[in-house]
Amino acid sequence: MPMTAEGPISTTTPTRLDPLQPQRARPTDDPSAGGDAVKIDVRNVSFWYGASQALWDVSLKIPARKVTALIGPSGCGKSTLLRLLNRMNDLVPGARIGGTIALDGVDIHDRKTEVEILRRRVGMVFQKPNPFPKSIYENVAYGPRIQGIGDRARLDAIVEDSLRRGALWNEVKDRLDQSAIGMSGGQQQRLCIARALATAPEVLLMDEPCSALDPASTAKIEDLIHELRSSVTIAIVTHNMQQAARVSDFTAFMLVGKLLEHGPTEQIFTRPTKKETEDYVTGRFG
Ligand code: ADP
Repeated sequence: MPMTAEGPISTTTPTRLDPLQPQRARPTDDPSAGGDAVKIDVRNVSFWYGASQALWDVSLKIPARKVTALIGPSGCGKSTLLRLLNRMNDLVPGARIGGTIALDGVDIHDRKTEVEILRRRVGMVFQKPNPFPKSIYENVAYGPRIQGIGDRARLDAIVEDSLRRGALWNEVKDRLDQSAIGMSGGQQQRLCIARALATAPEVLLMDEPCSALDPASTAKIEDLIHELRSSVTIAIVTHNMQQAARVSDFTAFMLVGKLLEHGPTEQIFTRPTKKETEDYVTGRFG
């Protein structure tokens, strides 16, 4: 599909993302995603930062309520692809995309798509924990407040539920009014996950969420990913092969801007079809 930085020129007949009626999963079954329902369908996506092309004709089906890991050597385009899934690259000057990305069958670049609604449905957690310089409570309540939820009892319930889902509640329940900046790095990252969960996203994008953390904190985040996979679709970028093998159901291997191979994680790690994949997962390069 042709697109410009000003906006996509859709060649499909898009369905509107209705802000009042967030479309819950109406995914389609697809055998290439292991028979699982497809939540995000990336089709023939190419991407340019100005004159520099970062992605070449990438097609990837991300199954609902499963964990998909994006792996590959540094600079191969993992983060670029991840950021495209909730249009985080929209703000990059000169950025241009070709191809389509559909969420529950709806083109996310359709003119009528409201980016705020899209980002609420497709939340993101970054490499470096980035809590706001506010209290623990206010970090989690931030998104729901923006959504217009002002009722204190309702906010309290959302904050507690999100912190529980972020595996942080027991550690912070007695100090919700303290600044998030005083927390450890691992706690800050779980807070950022809880903050993302507070707007009830259907998809969570995680860009190397453990690379700044110690092994104990990493293990907690990995446990959390296991817990969340029953309710949220997760796409995670990781340079850690063991982590990809531990946490993901599907793995996509990228190399110099192309998606070389995609399949069930067990198959990618034990019976890859491409020599480059085998070399990478066995640590021969990267
Ligand atoms: P990975 O996540 O696999 O390390 P990235 O998606 O970060 O790879 O980068 C892919 C390519 O795009 C690299 O060549 C990188 O230098 C380039 N790139 C990433 N972000 C930008 C940007 N904001 N502007 C220009 N080039 C970028």
